[in-house]
Amino acid sequence: MPAPKRKYDCTKCPGYCCSYDWIEVTARDVARLARHFGVAEAVARERFTKLVDDGKRRVLRHKQDHVFKTTCMFFDQDERRCTIYAARPGVCREYPVTARCGYYDFLLWERDQQGDEEFIPGHP
Ligand code: SF4
Ligand code: SF4
Repeated sequence: MPAPKRKYDCTKCPGYCCSYDWIEVTARDVARLARHFGVAEAVARERFTKLVDDGKRRVLRHKQDHVFKTTCMFFDQDERRCTIYAARPGVCREYPVTARCGYYDFLLWERDQQGDEEFIPGHP
């Protein structure tokens, strides 16, 4: 059976999901990042990730943003897109799991309310 048609369009979104504080990575994700950047896995682990939750979870590092508080360090904040799309972690491939994205539904509703096709909540 074909996958249900997506009811969201990431190209019209400021990348809310890339602003999640904890974007978790696995050992496989770190290995993929290491291959992508041509560095050792230990270097990729240190350079691109950090431990949170008392050392129980490994997540992507962040940087300051002008729409959200911070975003993943691999997010292009002007173009609002992933700069390592082919090498992105598994969790980024799976998100939002369903055919709908709750943030995108909210965004469309706000744009309709504001009468502004480009309205982005949180943008100055
Ligand atoms: S929040 Fe939803 S619509 Fe926006 S980039 Fe993420 S998955 Fe795409
Ligand atoms: S790796 Fe790419 S898709 Fe995943 S959070 Fe970072 S910018 Fe977004």
